[in-house]
Parts: sequence; C-alpha cells; structure tokens
Amino acid sequence: MLLEVRWVTTDDTQDFGRSLGALLRGGDVLVLTGDLGAGKTTLTQGIAEGLGVRGPITSPTFVIARVHPSLVGGPALVHVDAYRLGSALELDDLDLDADLDASVTVVEWGAGLAEQLSESRLELTISGDHVRTAHLVGVGERWDEILDALVPAG
Ligand code: ADP
Ligand code: MG
Repeated sequence: MLLEVRWVTTDDTQDFGRSLGALLRGGDVLVLTGDLGAGKTTLTQGIAEGLGVRGPITSPTFVIARVHPSLVGGPALVHVDAYRLGSALELDDLDLDADLDASVTVVEWGAGLAEQLSESRLELTISGDHVRTAHLVGVGERWDEILDALVPAG
C-alpha cells in the first residue's frame, strides 16, 4: 500500500501528523526519511499531539532517543534520531525507560538502520523544497486501513 500526500505549510504537516498519530498503537514503528529541514521533526510533533504524549518534541540530535510518556493512558512515543548511528539501530542497547512493544517508535534518519526493528512498519519519505511531498509505504498488512484513512478528502 502506497500513499502520496502534499503539505504546503508547516501546519499541513503537523495536521497530517496529528491524524496519523491518532491511528497508531503500541508496537508501531515509523521510519522517516528526508534531508535536513524536510519536516521529519515537524511531522513528529503532530504525531505526538495525535497520540497525546508529553512534549516538547525537539530534534533529539544529541541524545539519539527520547521517551515521551502518554498523557492519556495510551502508548508512549519513542522518538529516535539515527543520524549519528553508524550501524543498525538496536533500541535495546539504548536502555530506554520504555516498553517498546507498548510504545510507538518514530525514527528520523532511520532508512537502512531501523528496518530490522519491525517486520511491520510505515516508511515515510519527505521531499521538496517548498511544497513537501511525502511518500508513505506500509510494510505489512497493518498499514492498509491506516493509509486508507489518511487519503485526503476530495
Ligand atoms: P527535519 O526534522 O526533517 O530536519 P524539521 O521538522 O526540524 O526538519 O524542520 C522543518 C523546517 O521547515 C521547520 O522550520 C518548518 O517550519 C519548515 N517548514 C516549512 N514548510 C514546511 C512544511 N510544509 N512541512 C514541514 N516543515 C516546513
Ligand atoms: Mg529532525
């Protein structure tokens, strides 16, 4: 299943993230790809709002990963920046205070490093200088209905 969406403004990106976040559950893994400034963290801010987790969501460049606990009794958000990782991401090695099966894991710069985290994952690539185009590819059956629900109206 594949979905392409366009985001003109920062708000568009965050709105989409909010809709996506509201559909996620524990164990879900998202792999975000795109150049510096593409909007990966902006999207993650929206996802965090949709999930109802404690912010703020900032670029975790110096810490590799942050855990944002739920404020609504739902899954926590594990926000990872794999930019500095030289080899495949092993979240167990990070000693996070989180149950990963019960958390939503979003990995920026995760392509080539985070795929082995889960056989079921959403791969999202953002491109474009002004208007952002995002390509979403769901790996695993789980994502079909989620991507269906995110098809823009009209
Ligand atoms: P990344 O995490 O991919 O490096 P950020 O989300 O940190 O990118 O930064 C994206 C920057 O681009 C922000 O300053 C944001 O306000 C700006 N921006 C402008 N238009 C958009 C858009 N449509 N979507 C996302 N960010 C946008
Ligand atoms: Mg970022």
